[in-house]
Amino acid sequence: MLRFAPSPTGDMHIGNLRVALFNYIVASQRGEELIVRIEDTDKERNIEGKDKEILDILGLFGIEYSNVTHQSENLRYHRMMAIQLLQDKKAFNCFCTPAELEVKREVAKKTHKPFRYDDICTHLTADQTIDNENPFTIRLRRPEAAVVTQDLLKGEISFAPEDIDSFIIMRAEKYPTYNFACAVDDMLSDISLVIRGEDHMSNTPKQTAVRDALGYDKTMEYAHLPIILNNEGKKMSKRDDASSVKWLLEEGFLPSAITNYLIHIGNKTPEEIFTLEEALEWFDLASISKSPARFDIDKLKFINGQHLRNMDAKELSRYVGFADEAIGQVAKIYLEEARTLKELRPKIKAIFAEKVIPEEFTEQAEIMRKVIMKAPHFEEFNDFKSYVMKESGLKGKNFFKPLRLLLTGAGNGPEVADLYVYLKDFMGEIVK
Ligand code: GLU
Repeated sequence: MLRFAPSPTGDMHIGNLRVALFNYIVASQRGEELIVRIEDTDKERNIEGKDKEILDILGLFGIEYSNVTHQSENLRYHRMMAIQLLQDKKAFNCFCTPAELEVKREVAKKTHKPFRYDDICTHLTADQTIDNENPFTIRLRRPEAAVVTQDLLKGEISFAPEDIDSFIIMRAEKYPTYNFACAVDDMLSDISLVIRGEDHMSNTPKQTAVRDALGYDKTMEYAHLPIILNNEGKKMSKRDDASSVKWLLEEGFLPSAITNYLIHIGNKTPEEIFTLEEALEWFDLASISKSPARFDIDKLKFINGQHLRNMDAKELSRYVGFADEAIGQVAKIYLEEARTLKELRPKIKAIFAEKVIPEEFTEQAEIMRKVIMKAPHFEEFNDFKSYVMKESGLKGKNFFKPLRLLLTGAGNGPEVADLYVYLKDFMGEIVK
């Protein structure tokens, strides 16, 4: 079983979408199920409705899963496991107050040492623990030996006990910390492989330590994906618009193109342009680059243009607001100069909109408009052109410029002759 475990705390990041895609692909390749676990334990950071938005995005990208749960539904298991760890003396109650801990943290800072909990509460007697009415957290006892995990991308990773520390698993309010909830949930769902972002690497030993302490001996493999960098070589953050899947969709990028791009970056793919179904055939998680991938919007635009080109003309027509194959073909011609739906839509709209003709050509355009309105149907552009030229008496720039403006609503663009092939049946509507 694989899982995708997003937090409903903001717009879906492209790094998360990449994680979801890889989980989906690997689950399909292995013939295992993929579940979605919405990690909503951090109540203050949760944003209402984001869970639904995440699921909608997964649907849009064709990422199928067998079940959705919310981490908060598992609270009773988190509490039960914490009690078990206390009974087994693998965990202990900690009565240190936040203020006391802050002082210790300050001391560590002054001596340039990383803060480690000093295990003072492990020395409390049973009576001292039971009679104490003060608030307490529950900490996992630091492991005695190094914790080793297998990472499909990075190999074997070993963490020293001091780096795992006796960390908090249940807060004073008796809600689990993120690492504890995640470790328990992965165990209860029988997860075989965790694919997630590299930013979670430091959580892995803690989560493994929790399962070790609970006596879970099945090996859970990991694959920590390198982060995605922005243009300046920094981690793509919320401040980079393109990090938001929603923004990319609003900008007119197709899900299939975003998918193609996210599988292509930091990877050697047999083709540059492909579909998710094709990637299922050859995708190899182990061959993903170990160094961070750099996000390149121009490359994404290029890939998007190719996906628009490969799209069925009728479907493309719907994307630009029509339901006619011929308009889809017109849109394909405009792909010479537009690579996203947002760039494409106004160009097609302009063809059918009321035309604003520069003063220089208003007179000629008016003459031409009347001629075209009365013109018979011509299959060939050349016949149409000869007819309009003859009837209007216009030629040269005075013919071609107003013709382009009348037919496309723009002063320049693709060859009018190429467009005419698909626009010829709409002349009345175009020059009305
Ligand atoms: N909830 C975490 C996140 O959205 C993912 C944790 C995980 O995959 O283990 O970054």
